[in-house]
Amino acid sequence: MKINNLYTPSHIEERISQLYIKKGILTPCDLSIENILTKFNFFVMEGDLSLAIADFGGIMLPRGLSKDKYIEKFHHELIHLLFHSGNQKEMHSLTLQKQEQDAQNYLLFTCIPYHMLDYIDFENENIIETISDQFNVPKNIAKNRIRKIKNQLLINCPEQLSLRMM
Ligand SMILES: [Zn+2]
Repeated sequence: MKINNLYTPSHIEERISQLYIKKGILTPCDLSIENILTKFNFFVMEGDLSLAIADFGGIMLPRGLSKDKYIEKFHHELIHLLFHSGNQKEMHSLTLQKQEQDAQNYLLFTCIPYHMLDYIDFENENIIETISDQFNVPKNIAKNRIRKIKNQLLINCPEQLSLRMM
């Protein structure tokens, strides 16, 4: 079962997909960190902390992260690069808090973008493991993304949902 006809993306999901499509990031195979960096002309460097350096298109990630944490932090900082401006060190704490929440929520959409949802079989019994492999993302990210999609479908079109999907 494909869900792109049933699911309504949020504004931010659409924006991320537009940016990706413009850069030729079209299928799950295009989602490697190396490819995203190349397409956007961004770079990653190792440092002591996790940080987006907006003016230079740079992402600093701490040394010694697990693979899953590396991917999550990368996408978190990618959201800052794509959507946020201003120096967080000089920012009002509420603005900073909002940016941090947004980055943490929106990374689901850079990891598993709206325009690639048709690659997902929502009736697959091992959907989390499958997506985690297919999109090369941590299982908790795959799980959160699918849960949010299913919640929206449940509200918008419950009659369309087969029991197997739940
Ligand atoms: Zn952040």
